Amino acid sequence: MLAVVNAVLVMRDHLIPDGVLLSDGGKIVGVGARRDVDVPAGCEVVDARGKFVGPGLIDMHTHAAGGKYFFEDPAYCARTVLEHGVTGVLPALYFNMTKPEYLGAMEKIREAACPNILGLYMEGPYLNPKFGCDRENNPWRGPIRREDYMEIVEAARDMARAWAVAPEREGIAEFCEDVAAAIPGIAFTVAHSEASPEQIERLIPLGLKIGTHHTNATGDLPKYPECRGVCVDEVVNFRDDIFAELIVDRMGIHVAPYMLRLVKKIKGERRIVLISDACVFDGPVPPGYDGADDINFDFEGEIAGSKLTLDVACRNMMVHTGCSIVDAFRYASRNPAEALGLRAKGELRIGFDADCAIVDNWMNVEGVILKGEIVS
Ligand SMILES: [Zn+2]
Repeated sequence: MLAVVNAVLVMRDHLIPDGVLLSDGGKIVGVGARRDVDVPAGCEVVDARGKFVGPGLIDMHTHAAGGKYFFEDPAYCARTVLEHGVTGVLPALYFNMTKPEYLGAMEKIREAACPNILGLYMEGPYLNPKFGCDRENNPWRGPIRREDYMEIVEAARDMARAWAVAPEREGIAEFCEDVAAAIPGIAFTVAHSEASPEQIERLIPLGLKIGTHHTNATGDLPKYPECRGVCVDEVVNFRDDIFAELIVDRMGIHVAPYMLRLVKKIKGERRIVLISDACVFDGPVPPGYDGADDINFDFEGEIAGSKLTLDVACRNMMVHTGCSIVDAFRYASRNPAEALGLRAKGELRIGFDADCAIVDNWMNVEGVILKGEIVS
């Protein structure tokens, strides 16, 4: 048994100062103020020294960590994010892979069996080549055909938890039906897209409930040249049942600070999900982006994800929007757990997995507990 003492516990909507958390068998078995929770004799004790102890962070959309892709070295990447408090991660596989590359990547990640890898985020193959998707070189720009994708869907059956699609692609509904039949409970996301509200809403009954990197790589579909169109961003903002992923970099480049505040106001405390979307293109920082050292640029000078970790994204969100540390843990743990249907994660609650991040006021990670084991 493990006891974390002298902690400020970060609960779903409040803090418990001088708190105690007990875990046994990888689960939380006690949580509350010191006066209410007895620490059994003989258990291992971690002194949190008055720091915040919240549920372990869940990064549901990231391609890489520490300068490598998950599909290259899953154990290294999983360990790297774990040190940043990420006790749950979905490596993302991008549209730019061929079928053999998808299958190989899945096999490698499956074999690594890292305890904090919870599945996969399939970012493709069927996105809109117009939006950050390599345009004419996109290997999946042709018609959507069952004989091309079914092997990938089968291989992803025990791993995929989220699947990104551009709802305007012809044949996407049939693709989603096949995926949903093979992987019950899969969360579809709208991504790299200029779909209309009708095209997006058509997929909601099949399980579409996430807007991938909200406000990035989306179209605006103006019907009249002088008037704003209604497209992906508007649907994600409008629908209370859609979670909004946000990449929050230090300078507010992926999403401007004003936009972050607007999205926070609209999506509220329940529907924001912070992601790192880390990549490894490592092109030079192009003119006009001076100082943007936490952003990844491709070799054409276009933004291609970040170099963030989720703890830093939380800190940036606190700076740009003034959100509290309770909010930050919601956006980076509880909400992704809910979006993905991870019923035993995202909160410090009896019966939940004993995954915790110990952090200071600014989300600097000082300790990590994974399934009741001190891992960092
Ligand atoms: Zn993307």
